[in-house]
Amino acid sequence: MDLGITGKVALVTAASKGLGRAVAEELAAEGASLVLCARTDATLQATCTAIRAATGARVLGVAADVANPADVARLVQAALAEFGQVDILVTNAGGPPAGTFEQHDAAAWDAATRLLLSSVVELTRAVLPGMQARGWGRILNITSIAVKQPVAGLMLSNSLRAAVTGMARTLATEVAASGVTVNNILPGYTRTERVEHLASAAATRDNISPEQATERWTSEIPMRRLGEPREFAALAAFLCSERASYITGTSTAVDGGWLRGLY
Ligand code: NAP
Repeated sequence: MDLGITGKVALVTAASKGLGRAVAEELAAEGASLVLCARTDATLQATCTAIRAATGARVLGVAADVANPADVARLVQAALAEFGQVDILVTNAGGPPAGTFEQHDAAAWDAATRLLLSSVVELTRAVLPGMQARGWGRILNITSIAVKQPVAGLMLSNSLRAAVTGMARTLATEVAASGVTVNNILPGYTRTERVEHLASAAATRDNISPEQATERWTSEIPMRRLGEPREFAALAAFLCSERASYITGTSTAVDGGWLRGLY
C-alpha cells in the first residue's frame, strides 16, 4: 500500500530512541522529510544520520525539551526555516515519574503537566494554522494504554494523558472539516530502553531477575510477549498517511491484546 505521504514534512518529537524513533524511521521509509527532536543532541544527531543513511530522507535534528515552551517555539521555527511547512505532527515525550497520589507534590504535577499536556498544546498551536490553510494535516499523539485502563502507580501519566485524549477528541471535531485529522495512538508494553530500564528497576526492587520482571508483564498480555517498536510504528505511519483520511478522533492501542474492554 502506498501511504501517499511522499514529500510531506513530519515533525516527530522525542524521537532519538524508542517509539518516537521507530515512527520517524517508518515515515522516512514512506518518503516523508523529517524534523526530529530530543534533549540530548549527540544521540539525536546519530539517529538523524542513521535514518538518512537507511532511507535517503531529508532529516533535521533540533535539540529541544518539549516541556519548555521556548524550545518548542524554536523547534517549530527551525522546521519552517528548513522545510517551509509541517504537514504531520507526532507528539511524544519521555514518561513522567511513577508514583502514587501521595508521592507527588505540586511541583511534580506542574512538571508533568508541562511535559505531557502543555507540550501537545503548544506544538499543536504552532503547526495547526498552516495545516488548516493548506487543507491537509495529521496530528497524532503518542499516549498510553493507561488512558483506557489506568496503570497502578502511574498517577501522573494516567491523569495527564487522559487530559490529552480529551483535548485531542475535542480538537478533532473542531478541525475535521478543514482536512486535518487528530488521533491518539496508545502503546502497550513495548521493547524500548525505557521498558528495559523499568524491568531492571523492578528487578532490583523486588529481588528478582529483569527477565522475571518482564515475565510479570507478559503474563498479562494475551500475546505473551512485549511489542516491538516497529509494530507500533506501522499503525502510527498509517494514521499519519493520506490513506487514513477518514479516521479522526480515535484512540487506538497497539498492545498485544492487553486492554480487555469493548472499545
Ligand atoms: P525511550 O525509549 O526512553 O525514549 C524516549 C525518547 O524521548 C528519547 O529519544 C529521549 O531523548 C526523548 N525525550 C525524553 N524526554 C524528552 C523531552 N522532555 N523533550 C524531548 N525529548 C525527550 O521511551 P519510549 O519507551 O519510546 O517511550 C516514549 C513515550 O511513550 C513515553 O512517554 C512513555 O511513557 C510512553 N509509553 C511507553 C510505553 C512502552 O512500553 N515503551 C508504554 C506506554 C507509554 P532525550 O532523553 O535525549 O531527551
